[in-house]
Amino acid sequence: MRFCSLGSGSGGNATVVETGHGASTRRLLIDCGFSLRELALRLARVGLDCTDLHAVFITHEHGDHVGCATTLARRHGVPLWMSRGTWRAIGEPELPGLLHFARDGQAIDIGGLQLTPFTVAHDAQEPLQLRCSDGARHLGVLTDVGSITPHLLAQAGLRYVADWGNDDRPYVMQTEPPLLSVPNQAEWDDVQMIWHRKVHPAIYRDTVLEAFRRLHADGASSGTFFGLHIHPWLMGMPHRIGMLETIIETIAAASEVWRTTAGAVTDHAAGANAQR
Ligand SMILES: [Zn+2]
Repeated sequence: MRFCSLGSGSGGNATVVETGHGASTRRLLIDCGFSLRELALRLARVGLDCTDLHAVFITHEHGDHVGCATTLARRHGVPLWMSRGTWRAIGEPELPGLLHFARDGQAIDIGGLQLTPFTVAHDAQEPLQLRCSDGARHLGVLTDVGSITPHLLAQAGLRYVADWGNDDRPYVMQTEPPLLSVPNQAEWDDVQMIWHRKVHPAIYRDTVLEAFRRLHADGASSGTFFGLHIHPWLMGMPHRIGMLETIIETIAAASEVWRTTAGAVTDHAAGANAQR
């Protein structure tokens, strides 16, 4: 089994999954969020044509996932799978002999490729995501999962996330099992400041050092987190690297600072919670 993303994001989503060889080859298109012309162009880039598709599965009704699905089905006679809720949400199009309803947990066989749809909590009528299997290999496709993302991450065995920019201290999220949120301090991220906000590198340096000074002082009584996101393509430039060196030297010289990793912070938090 192999797969290829033809696009992902609000501009359009589509993924091809292929299994088998020669005449037994089966190709599934998961989501079809482009115009027919754009889809054909993107398929051509991977050596495929609309007529090479054996089935299309639509995860939910949002335009960046449905796109040209019904046109593609009618023009090329490709069977289309979606939940009844998705079908209703797109205006109950008539697709005689081509439309099949998918349901949470109900297996679908498209000739050597078994699909198992499962429900997610996206803001759509009846969104489904997919597990694909050809017996030997398995592929899980998970996009647009909505607010339960941290729960899914916790269930998948992840121990921490580092992309919640809402605190200067790590905190335990209400997931099962608990997940630790390690702060994301994007306010002084180099790309945010220098690239997007056009802040002069010297002011960037002063801002970062002021943030560090304040968090260091606050941390004397309670423990605070200071993270610095740097991108070599930006801060590695000869006219900026001196500013970064000053920042690193200042932080390195500060006392009572634990220089560590997100994983070690998570271990520490787990230990602290266990002692409570
Ligand atoms: Zn969506």
